[in-house]
Amino acid sequence: MLMRYLGLESSCDESAIAIWETGKGIVYEQVLSQVDSHSPYGGVMPSIAIREHLVGFQILLEKIQLSVDLKRLDGIGVTHGPGLMGCLGVGLAYAQSLQLILRKPLMGINHLQGHALSPFMAHAYAPSFSWEQICPHLGLLVSGGNTLLFKMTHKEAGFTFEVLAQTQDDAAGEALDKGARLLGFSYPGGPLIEQAAKQGDAKAFQFPEAFKKCDEWQFSFSGLKTSLRYFLDKHPKTWIEHHKSSICAAYEEAIVNALTRKVSCALQQTHYQSLGLSGGVANNERLRHACQRIAQHYGVPLFLPEKSHCGDNASMIAFLTSLKLEKIPTFHLNPNLKINED
Ligand code: AMP
Ligand code: MG
Repeated sequence: MLMRYLGLESSCDESAIAIWETGKGIVYEQVLSQVDSHSPYGGVMPSIAIREHLVGFQILLEKIQLSVDLKRLDGIGVTHGPGLMGCLGVGLAYAQSLQLILRKPLMGINHLQGHALSPFMAHAYAPSFSWEQICPHLGLLVSGGNTLLFKMTHKEAGFTFEVLAQTQDDAAGEALDKGARLLGFSYPGGPLIEQAAKQGDAKAFQFPEAFKKCDEWQFSFSGLKTSLRYFLDKHPKTWIEHHKSSICAAYEEAIVNALTRKVSCALQQTHYQSLGLSGGVANNERLRHACQRIAQHYGVPLFLPEKSHCGDNASMIAFLTSLKLEKIPTFHLNPNLKINED
């Protein structure tokens, strides 16, 4: 039977709505990014984000009703964590209003699980697709706030997630953004570092990598950022400008190496049926290519989200709603939700 689910996402600085239809996949999606509003502050300002979500969802819901009959929905899913409490609250308030007006079931969706499943959005509606074929699955979730290596399994009751490694301090995206700031780029700096790095030589300089051993199941990026600061302090401004692209390439390479080393360790030690990459940093070509090489080496298929679904979006929330709505558990806002919690 044809089912349609609406997803709402407001955990940080994107207001987004999307519709997932069984057998078709994403049939509607809109994301309002707040980057321009936060950029002058060098990071996300929660008070501004809340205000922008309040206005953003008004715009998004007025627009969707011009082309979609919301009465035909079968359910609604809303991100209930992790994220900024006030931002999550705005999404929930809109979702609950829709639930009351439309009289449709509403469920809370874990934002991290949304990212974790996002590599499968383009595949899961194909009749030949089966979760048994791709699980156990090794996932690397890298965003502005999270750096997680996890094992995903699938049983009749749903998905289970086991965290294999996570960051002890800064997230990978945060390290890129903070490093970019030291180099004089605006926020968010990850894409700007990538752009500059394209003309650089990643081997020209070497930045330190933490937890290099295969039995050290952790990431750490704050030392890397500090080493960039010391490196920049040691050189004159004109020299830095002249070598900027190679500094960016070497810094980006250090982050990609740290991430992919643990992916290789996991694939060496345990049998996985597939590898996946997700989160905003999954936009990065150096990281995507490194994962492609590793997947090829270990003979596992690599699932990558489309670039438009790497950063925060509601399509992954609508998709997960379609997978989960049968259970309809009660839920509450949880800004500290872990990947293995519902
Ligand atoms: P998210 O937290 O999922 O919204 O993703 C935002 C994070 O992804 C920020 O830290 C960005 O700097 C980072 N990011 C986005 N695009 C890229 C890219 N092309 N290369 C590296 N990092 C990126
Ligand atoms: Mg974001």
